[in-house]
Amino acid sequence: MYWKKQTHEQIKETIFAALSQNLDYRGEHPILGIPGTYLDTAEFYPDAPFLKDAPYMSAMVRNPNHIGVHTLSEKSVLEIFEGTQKIEKDLIRLCAEEIFNGDPGQQDGYVATGGTEANIQAMWIYRNFFRKEFGARIGEIGLVYSEDSHYSMPKGANILNLTSIILEVDKDTREILPHSLESKIKTAMDEGIKYFIVIANLSTTMFGSVDDIDMLGDFFTNMNAPFKIHVDAAYGGFIYPFTNPTSRFTFQNPYLNSITSDGHKMLQTPYGTGLFLIRKGYFDFVKTDEAQYIPGKDYTVSGSRSGANAISMWMILQIHGSEGWKYKMETLCDHTERICKRLTGMGVEFFRNPYLNIISIKAKYISSELAHKYYLVANSYEFEPTWYKIVVMPHVKQGTIDSFLMDLEGELKARQMR
Ligand SMILES: *Cc1c(COP(=O)(O)O)cnc(C)c1O
Repeated sequence: MYWKKQTHEQIKETIFAALSQNLDYRGEHPILGIPGTYLDTAEFYPDAPFLKDAPYMSAMVRNPNHIGVHTLSEKSVLEIFEGTQKIEKDLIRLCAEEIFNGDPGQQDGYVATGGTEANIQAMWIYRNFFRKEFGARIGEIGLVYSEDSHYSMPKGANILNLTSIILEVDKDTREILPHSLESKIKTAMDEGIKYFIVIANLSTTMFGSVDDIDMLGDFFTNMNAPFKIHVDAAYGGFIYPFTNPTSRFTFQNPYLNSITSDGHKMLQTPYGTGLFLIRKGYFDFVKTDEAQYIPGKDYTVSGSRSGANAISMWMILQIHGSEGWKYKMETLCDHTERICKRLTGMGVEFFRNPYLNIISIKAKYISSELAHKYYLVANSYEFEPTWYKIVVMPHVKQGTIDSFLMDLEGELKARQMR
């Protein structure tokens, strides 16, 4: 993985050059047929002086539409926004090939609204894949995921009419229990499920636990059951590949077919930046032929979407370079490690994956006052919580961590837990 860091000046030049390759609604071109235009000028006036130094804001005000998937062909989808669509194409290439180690030119992708959409996009593609390639009936397709998975899985299953198969995890290690996998899949097969869309978490939201993609792939291979694995790296996609040099979550792993990686979690981009990446050849299963008025057809759940979102992701990756981003993510992990050492010293039980910045502490050590004071998130708001989590994000200051640990230690002493 390597890409060089760029200066603000270089990034600005690239973005403004891309914007100037787009047709400007304000320019000389006779744009008569497009149901889009610049932002309303009563509020978003284009001659605001700061805009000339603000490429992302300029992109927002110019309002390019990135509808469609731009990696599919050389030809642009909506030609008038060709300039910034090329930035998105470069973003997809960078993420697929540098971060997730894909072979050159062998992946497609787009910037979805978020992890929810990217996960549903994957389920939609594989559902149609099994129907078209295997003649599967809807009732024969199962969606397999662990009980710690994000709720976009049941949401997607509901929308797409898939049968959910929910795997149990070990209560302490949060690993999928092999006997649960075996028995749930056997039961599903007995009930007529023949095709499996399998979700592997590259970190669950609650625990930062990472599913064993090879164990899942080997299991379904041995069962001789047709399956496709989608990786939900909505949370971990922009940290784990940088902190774990031997990650199994790359396109070199044949079990990984597609991946969700949110910009708006670890990459600190604006909301609306959920990256979806997939091996070439799969988008065709969701081609909407009825999208007659779009020259390149549509292949996405979202339809029209802001080009500025793709630009924001590209800019952040470029300003840091791969080395800079790696340093930043490793630093978060170092801070997390330091907290873990202190917790261990206090005799507090917790779960943490060493390559991630999430610590889940067993709830018995944390009073609800303490949880409230530090905005800790519980694993359940419906039932009595069993875990509270800390997420060591870039805004978390060492001072805050210190005072949390002091408060915790005080409470534990008072309750004679140490
Ligand atoms: C946040 C998250 C999602 C959903 O992403 P949105 O961007 O909120 O739609 C899905 N899966 C995981 C693991 C997440 O952390």
